[in-house]
Amino acid sequence: MPDHIVVIGAGIQGAGVAQAAAAAGFKVTILEKCSVGGATSSNSSKLIHGGLRYLESAQFALVRECLLERQLLLQLAPELIALQRFHIPIFDHSKRRPWQIRLGLAAYSALSGFNHAGQYGEVPRAQWARFDGLKHDQLRSLHYYYDAQTNDQLLTQAVVQSAQSLGAELLLGADVSTVDIHKDGCRIGFMHNGREQFLEAAAVVNCSGPWVNGLLAKATPRQTPLNIELVQGSHLLLKNTGIKHYYYMEAPGDHRAIFALPYLNELLVGTTEVPYKGDPSNAQTLAVEETYLIDSLRHYFPELPAQLQIQQRLCGLRVLPQALSKSPFGRHRETLYQLDQRTRPRLISVAGGKLTSYRLSALKVLEQLRPTLNNPKAIASTGKLLLIPNN
Ligand SMILES: Cc1cc2nc3c(=O)[nH]c(=O)nc-3n(C[C@H](O)[C@H](O)[C@H](O)COP(=O)(O)OP(=O)(O)OC[C@H]3O[C@@H](n4cnc5c(N)ncnc54)[C@H](O)[C@@H]3O)c2cc1C
Repeated sequence: MPDHIVVIGAGIQGAGVAQAAAAAGFKVTILEKCSVGGATSSNSSKLIHGGLRYLESAQFALVRECLLERQLLLQLAPELIALQRFHIPIFDHSKRRPWQIRLGLAAYSALSGFNHAGQYGEVPRAQWARFDGLKHDQLRSLHYYYDAQTNDQLLTQAVVQSAQSLGAELLLGADVSTVDIHKDGCRIGFMHNGREQFLEAAAVVNCSGPWVNGLLAKATPRQTPLNIELVQGSHLLLKNTGIKHYYYMEAPGDHRAIFALPYLNELLVGTTEVPYKGDPSNAQTLAVEETYLIDSLRHYFPELPAQLQIQQRLCGLRVLPQALSKSPFGRHRETLYQLDQRTRPRLISVAGGKLTSYRLSALKVLEQLRPTLNNPKAIASTGKLLLIPNN
């Protein structure tokens, strides 16, 4: 009988770990208190990308890794992930100059391997009028490059489904309340259908996203919390804006990067960054964030209708390493891992990171558990498994 791995949380990280562990031949159970991909993993910017802006904080290895992963995921999930042409308008008042954008896009293209997805360039002035009423006043250049967009929740569901097809079990409505680490494994207690139940596992992977430290507080022996903070990011889904192209712009006030992306026949505009304290379940978009996003959009698209209808507010919490001196966007985006203090660790916590790199994070988790587990014969490779949307 292969070792049993229990995964807590069915966001993209839990989905990825469950898929990788099942593909490696382990017995896998996913415990999820709510729904698959219902938390952070349905409130992202929905990009499968290298992260152009992370070049500014010199995160070259991360960008390269994510661009390679973008390439692979485009092949594995063609019905869920599509390449789109993004546009960056640069104005006289923009903080970044046209030469900086050219340099950044050249580096982005090089890191993606100069393939089709690495194309970039500038839109000739004669074509600017085709761009959704984008203001021309003080517009100096309009750059383009390619990145990929997904439906984050459908992607997460497809990864869970792939894990299930390899034998993983999913228990929804299972709220984990205790993790007791002992010599030979872990005993996990959880509430399900109004009664407390228990599972034994050789190892537990804590993929509870912004609840990661709350979960660690439920473990015995006592575990050190991760040194993290939560930063709230909001998007608005706006109806009938008429905007058909994908934009990556600087907010006029504070020069932060914001996206305006056609999504499900509407326009997704985001994101903000607001430090968050308190129960992650209570996070919601603030009025000040709404105003900031709509004002920024109006600044660049002055012909937008006077009344913009908000179809949906999406609010997610980024798990970032503590770094009081740096703005959230300058901070490193690598996935964070923490093992319990044993020579043969039984509990590993995974937090932060990116939707894009979920598959690589999952492989790193298994690598770190390798000394603890009896490694069975692999039955598949996640680099080859197609991801099909759930109908
Ligand atoms: C605003 C924003 C925009 C982003 N944009 C992008 C982007 O465009 N591209 C990109 O690559 N990345 C992006 N990211 C990063 C990416 O979305 C996250 O890193 C990722 O979704 C985190 O997934 P997760 O599985 O760790 O957490 P979650 O998706 O939050 O999943 C955690 C799960 O654990 C469950 N859980 C918690 N406690 C328990 C318990 N006690 N028992 C059982 N279950 C429990 C929760 O219900 C939840 O389903 C963005 C993040 C944010 C916040």
